Amino acid sequence: MASVYDRHVDLNQFMEGVKKRNPGQTEFIQAVQEVAQDIYEFIEDKEEYHEAQILRRIAEPDRVVSFRVCWEDDNHNIRVQRGFRIQNNNAIGPYKGGIRFHPSVNESVLKFLAFEQTFKNSLTGLPMGGGKGGANFNPRGKSDAEVMRFCQSFMTELYRHIGPDTDVPAGDIGVGGREIGYMFGQYKRITNRWEGVLTGKGQEYGGSQMRPEATGYGAVYFLQNMLKHKGEDVEGKTAVISGSGNVATHAAEMITKLGGKVLTLSDSGGFIHDPDGIDQEKIDWIKHLKNVKRGRISEYVDEFKSAEYHEDARPWSVKCDLALPCATQNELSADEAKALVDNGVQGVSEGANMPTTLEGVKVFHDAKIMYGPGKAANAGGVAVSGLEMSQNSERISWNHERLGEMLTDLMKGIHEKCVEYGDNGDGYVDYVKGANIAGFKKVADAMLAFGVV
Ligand code: GLU
Repeated sequence: MASVYDRHVDLNQFMEGVKKRNPGQTEFIQAVQEVAQDIYEFIEDKEEYHEAQILRRIAEPDRVVSFRVCWEDDNHNIRVQRGFRIQNNNAIGPYKGGIRFHPSVNESVLKFLAFEQTFKNSLTGLPMGGGKGGANFNPRGKSDAEVMRFCQSFMTELYRHIGPDTDVPAGDIGVGGREIGYMFGQYKRITNRWEGVLTGKGQEYGGSQMRPEATGYGAVYFLQNMLKHKGEDVEGKTAVISGSGNVATHAAEMITKLGGKVLTLSDSGGFIHDPDGIDQEKIDWIKHLKNVKRGRISEYVDEFKSAEYHEDARPWSVKCDLALPCATQNELSADEAKALVDNGVQGVSEGANMPTTLEGVKVFHDAKIMYGPGKAANAGGVAVSGLEMSQNSERISWNHERLGEMLTDLMKGIHEKCVEYGDNGDGYVDYVKGANIAGFKKVADAMLAFGVV
């Protein structure tokens, strides 16, 4: 007799299963929870998705690779780090997603990022699956030589799991142009192949124009599209931004170009508040501070006397029209969301991945604030990575202007998809729901076509 298997577990039972199978992985459980509630609503009357257990399969990575990374520091100490590559889903294209070097990296964090990446990459409309990798290595305070040795050792294991048609990593927190260069060099040395195996490369060796700007600019374009939908624009509005890395500085740059005024930037030590506005000249100074001097944001107040530094604090208490969390996950709590709402915030666009807690998202939704979740709002970065892959395959390079237009169109397309599935019919667009359903549908339909694999 056939066994009785209930394919119709409800949302609570589904989440209980996720919690049981992934003990202690709080970030991963949080990311699945945020998606599952919308998907459950969407597939309620769609038997084929239940029958094929699609959500259950997307929430189980295809592969979790974990490896030891040994390296020698400048004092000849042997150091040991843990490296990972999570290949979440390759239904619609090769695994694609960044590499993060940060002390907080663990399996839960990378599984949440790889899961989110699957939906984000689908939303771009480009043929990219979802993956993520990294290590609990802290580049802060390390010499260039130490970073190089670490990157080389990391790639010495990673290279066997990736490839231009298999899995294409890129940068993320702690991994920028310098680290991509060291890793690409090592891949090429080991394999004797020049191929588009990483994105975010330098312009001299196959990197795409616009890639450095893409995530930050894209998050502002997404915000611009949300505002336009309501008959508003960025001009004349104040913006509070967290972070001071590649995403935050380029978001600040685009807010400024569009006539907005950026009031804050931050790092893990605290935030700077400059009531005069952080203009292009100041942004260039910060880029140099962070990318070349590898300094801390607190140094800003020594240079620009109009600003104040707030140690051990996040910027969400500063009154603003627009908020762009561009630092890291769970950096905006329910209380901070409430402070933003009480101060009259109109729109929130996430440059980081899952920066707002589930409770914080609820605060924005209850207050009917325009809220663009990271998987939609920060998709510009990986979208231009997808264009870098195309250029590498064709062995050509497109110019800055053309790529700028493509990025603008891609962000407009993502916004449209979110509205298609997230418009509640009462004038409020639930962008989380829209992004989750649109991202899910394409991956799910591809998986249905493959049968049980
Ligand atoms: N790390 C970025 C993200 O979170 C970019 C990934 C990529 O370009 O592959 O989407």
